Amino acid sequence: MSANVRTVENATCTFCGCVCDDMDLTVDMDEKRITKAKNACVLGRAWFAKHGLEEGRPYALIEGREASTAEAVEEAAQILAAARFPIIYGLSDTTIEAQQQAVAIGDMIRGNIDTTTSVCHGPSGIAFEGVGESTMTLGEIKNRADLVIFWGGNPGESHPRLFSRYAVTAKGLYVPKGKKDRTIVLVDVRRTPSAPVADIFVQVKPGRDFELLWALRALVRGRQIDAAIEQSTGVSLATLEDLAQRMKNCRYGVLFFGMGLTMTRGRHFNSGALLALAADLNEYTHFVAKPVRGHGNVTGADNVVSWQTGYPFGVNFSRGYPRFNPGEFTTVDVLSRQEADATLIIASDPASNFPHAAINHLHNIPVIALDPKPTVTTQLARVAFTTATYGINVSGTVYRMDDVPITLRPAFDSPYPSDEEVLSQIKNRVHELLTVDRSAPQASADKHVAG
Ligand code: SF4
Repeated sequence: MSANVRTVENATCTFCGCVCDDMDLTVDMDEKRITKAKNACVLGRAWFAKHGLEEGRPYALIEGREASTAEAVEEAAQILAAARFPIIYGLSDTTIEAQQQAVAIGDMIRGNIDTTTSVCHGPSGIAFEGVGESTMTLGEIKNRADLVIFWGGNPGESHPRLFSRYAVTAKGLYVPKGKKDRTIVLVDVRRTPSAPVADIFVQVKPGRDFELLWALRALVRGRQIDAAIEQSTGVSLATLEDLAQRMKNCRYGVLFFGMGLTMTRGRHFNSGALLALAADLNEYTHFVAKPVRGHGNVTGADNVVSWQTGYPFGVNFSRGYPRFNPGEFTTVDVLSRQEADATLIIASDPASNFPHAAINHLHNIPVIALDPKPTVTTQLARVAFTTATYGINVSGTVYRMDDVPITLRPAFDSPYPSDEEVLSQIKNRVHELLTVDRSAPQASADKHVAG
């Protein structure tokens, strides 16, 4: 190791929605890489280890040819300004400052703006609008929660420090003995590696979460439930009655829920039922609910898109004002129906995980991609920007899964621009192009016939 070592205290890991802000990083400034990440979990250590600076990568590629950032900005702006149905997607692994720029571009080009929420907790976003959210911060969970229920998720593997820092073993003001002062319940269709931490494991039949949640709502309200509930849900009436009583009798309860609930049969009805159960329980005690979010700033994406459009994801500007319609304006659907004619993808790799029909269409339209690393999406992109990594090279703000904003402390500089810088330049150039375009009335009318 070189002698040129720097330490960064209280840095932030942006690998998952826990956004742990207590990382003590040791940075080899000669090799530009993080050699130690104290307090990080196994996922966080891997995140920091793999984001050393890979100098020598081109700033940008246009149709596979090396280009400067400025040339790529011009090409991207020309594509977006000329498109009839451009779409913007991704955004969950970048700062809110970059997200703001992306929404402004979407508004300006009268396109579609959508985030990875549409393929993870989109149903929860719909349910929040219908039912409301009894919410909290993770600090409250650490200090107060004595009944913690995880529903449809495996945070032991996906969010390891959710257990140790906040919700299971963490010692808090009113739960000083940590896990000994809490009851942990896990509801899932199978035993996952998270199950060993649970005091009570409830195995629900696949696709029967809604029925189970509705039965709990009835029991919490003192209604009678038929013992046949066990045939439909796989959970005995006695287990449900016990769980309902524990929920009513705790001092502070929380329902954490994951994609096992939101992306299975029932979707937003499942999320809505869980949120309604949490609301019902506030007749008896303090109870909250919170989705466990995956990407480091997917919560920020929801917040920014909501501030600027009034809706959290799947928003369309083609009529000059925002419209929200999941299924119509969500990216998988727009691509699968072959409607989009250009796309701007920020910090996401849909070409590696979308359905075939959507990926096929990505091959047929100009794609502009911003990413610190080569991905399947950057490889098919007509314009691919290399950008600096948020949290490691770039400062800014991210939102933890409980909507708490956290300021990033970068470890070392990058020669590559941030997403915010690239998007800001694209936005300014698109504005220039559209200002000229809109001075010609017929051209402008032709461009925005979509929707
Ligand atoms: S729990 Fe998530 S945010 Fe915290 S260190 Fe692990 S990967 Fe990073």
